[in-house]
Amino acid sequence: MGEPTQPRQRILSGMRPTGRLHLGNLVGALWNWRMLQDTYDCFFMIADYHALMSDYEKPAGIAPSAREVLIDFISCGLDPERSVIFRQSDVPEHAELHLILSCYTPISWLERNPTYKEQLQQLTAKDIRNYAFLGYPVLQASDIVIYKANLVPVGEDQLPHLELTREVVRRFNALVGREVLVEPQAKLTASPRLLGTDRRKMSKSYGNQIDVADDPDTIRKKVMSMITDPLRIRRGDPGHPEDCNVCQYFKIFCPADQETVTDKCRHAKWGCTDCKKYLAEILIAFLAEPRDKRAELEAHPERLKEILADGAGKAQAVARATLEEVKGLTGLGQMFND
Ligand code: ATP
Ligand code: MG
Repeated sequence: MGEPTQPRQRILSGMRPTGRLHLGNLVGALWNWRMLQDTYDCFFMIADYHALMSDYEKPAGIAPSAREVLIDFISCGLDPERSVIFRQSDVPEHAELHLILSCYTPISWLERNPTYKEQLQQLTAKDIRNYAFLGYPVLQASDIVIYKANLVPVGEDQLPHLELTREVVRRFNALVGREVLVEPQAKLTASPRLLGTDRRKMSKSYGNQIDVADDPDTIRKKVMSMITDPLRIRRGDPGHPEDCNVCQYFKIFCPADQETVTDKCRHAKWGCTDCKKYLAEILIAFLAEPRDKRAELEAHPERLKEILADGAGKAQAVARATLEEVKGLTGLGQMFND
């Protein structure tokens, strides 16, 4: 007889459908998620309620973006056979638990959330002074605890959110007198922070991104527009690869070439244009597999629908069970014993 197998720990993570995924999302999240599938039971969510909180004035983009994100997820290696891939609003239990947990969340906990304060200042193009946005950490808490997830992959900057989830869980469990909700732990992952074509952090909001689904010509155009080493003005000047965004890309996407590229730059054996032309071809080759998978999925929308329905079914079965337990403990459950 073999060793008894331990049940696998559960992970939940999600992405807001606010556009297609870019290389920053790939290196900062999806690569890690793809790996986690080997060891954990993973739930990967397309968080459309979260998108609505900031995009409610122009919600028409959310559903098409959710479709794009679904295709990006699968074409970048998330496996619907092994992981539960679902759209948040297909499991409305998230919203119901959100309302229940909001009863257990003091407003002061939300107001002191550093990301909230930061976003209010930075996201000036959107009016996020709404009730839902203040409470988004409560929805996040619901997203996690409804699956009794043990681990949540986060970067350091997201630790305060997870702490809030843990506080809500502790408060809820203490008040209902049962350890019904699971306190999730952070699964800290050090992932590179990819810079965009303009050297700021790659982000949809800055419009400086290279999308996973970009076609070869678009990739060439974007890479050629990348800002390189600001100190290298003439072709003959020696470069500073350690300060050059383009050189950093080789480290991530083609480490085997990094030494040669660094040498050519440092000793002015090639110009930034040559370097960028080369990088564009590397990225095009690198993204060939997701591009092919995407084309295949786009040709079979019925397969996409199937994946989404299957994911919603699996997610909902778990979510419903947790919600029933919670309702039973909060006076919202059954009234009669039948
Ligand atoms: P938005 O502009 O709407 O904030 P975004 O492009 O910044 O969108 P997010 O939805 O904020 O993307 O991020 C989704 C995931 O991708 C998060 O886990 C985040 O840490 C990661 N991520 C986003 N941008 C980068 C980047 N430039 N480098 C590394 N990881 C990133
Ligand atoms: Mg962002």
